[in-house]
Parts: sequence; structure tokens; C-alpha cells
Amino acid sequence: MKITSTQLIARVTTGDDIPEQDFRHVAFIGRSNVGKSSVINVLTSKKDLAKSSSTAGFTKSINFYLINKNFFLVDLQGYGFAQGSLKERKRLQQMIEWYLTYPDLEDKQLIVLIIDAKVGATDLDRQMLTLLKDLEKKVIVIANKIDKLKKNDVKKQIAAIVEEAHPYAVIPFSAHDKIGVPALTKEIVSQ
Ligand code: GDP
Repeated sequence: MKITSTQLIARVTTGDDIPEQDFRHVAFIGRSNVGKSSVINVLTSKKDLAKSSSTAGFTKSINFYLINKNFFLVDLQGYGFAQGSLKERKRLQQMIEWYLTYPDLEDKQLIVLIIDAKVGATDLDRQMLTLLKDLEKKVIVIANKIDKLKKNDVKKQIAAIVEEAHPYAVIPFSAHDKIGVPALTKEIVSQ
């Protein structure tokens, strides 16, 4: 996928309208610090399209980028940000759930759930997987940071994530080493 244009179209939060244009949505979600911004940036070949969720000082919103005037890349907030106050964490969780339950998106929405390959699925990841299954979302799971694994551990760790993520497909990925980008691109293009 050659990225020819990226435009920030909207920053929305709970209760706002989401952009009405009839583009597909590819929505990225994951635990805070899982490398979501890095995955988005490597996918779009941009240095800083998505700012790290740990960046201080700006209001956390759901950001809609129009890619190639063809689909919306939706940057959902990271969940479980340890340094955030309980109130802020709740607000972000509600915002994610608000987007996921927004009416009439099912047919044009792909959720890309990012899990840390080294850490494996956490309780929060499991809760998110359960929610996505309950909502019958179309999901692809990215196991990011595989470069951090010892060669001998890759198979075992990926197998564990595949089991947790069932029935969703899992793409071994490294934003750092640009591993898995073609596989993810293929999923997005063929959505
Ligand atoms: P976000 O909070 O989920 O948006 O995560 P960031 O993209 O800001 O990444 C969090 C940290 O993980 C940063 O220090 C990144 O450099 C690091 N990181 C992200 N992707 C990878 C990866 O594939 N491999 C390694 N080793 N580190 C990564």
C-alpha cells in the first residue's frame, strides 16, 4: 500500500458525531505502550502521524485520518494507562466502548488489536477480546515487538497469543524491525 495522502479529519470524543463520509474504518486499539503509534507510523511510513499515547499535555481523543482518500485510519486510545487517574482511565475506556458500539459501522469496520508479543495477552487484552467477540467485530490481532523475543521463544509466544485470540488471525509483527507490514497491509486492503 503506497500511502499518497494522509489527512487528520477529526478528533472526536464520547458523544460527538463521527465523520459521516462513507469510507471504511480501520481502527487501531491496544494497551497503552504496546506500540500502537509505532505500528501506525510504520504502516503509513510516517514518522509521527500517530503521537504516542504517553505524550503528555494533549487531550486524548479518537483521531480519524483519511488515508489515500480511501479509508479512515482510526486511532483509538490505549487502554490501561498506568499513570492516568482512575477517572481518566474510565473516560478513555468509555470512549473506546462508545466508538465500538457506535451504530451502523459493522459492515465497514476492521479492528486491529495490538498485543505485546513478549508480555502476551494481559487481563485487559482478554477483556477487550471478549468485548470484540461479543460485538461480533471483524478483528485482526497484531503481536507486536517480536524483535524482543529470543528466537527460540517466538513460536511458543505466538502460539499462546493465537490461542488467546481465537478465532481471530494473529500477525507476528515488529514496528521496530518492520516485520509483518505486508501481512497487515494485505488484511487492510482486502477488508
Ligand atoms: P503506544 O503508547 O501504544 O502508542 O506505544 P508507542 O508506539 O509510543 O511505543 C511504546 C514503546 O514501545 C516505545 O518505547 C517504542 O519505541 C517501543 N516499541 C514500539 N514498537 C516496538 C517494537 O516493535 N519493538 C520494540 N523493541 N519496541 C517497540
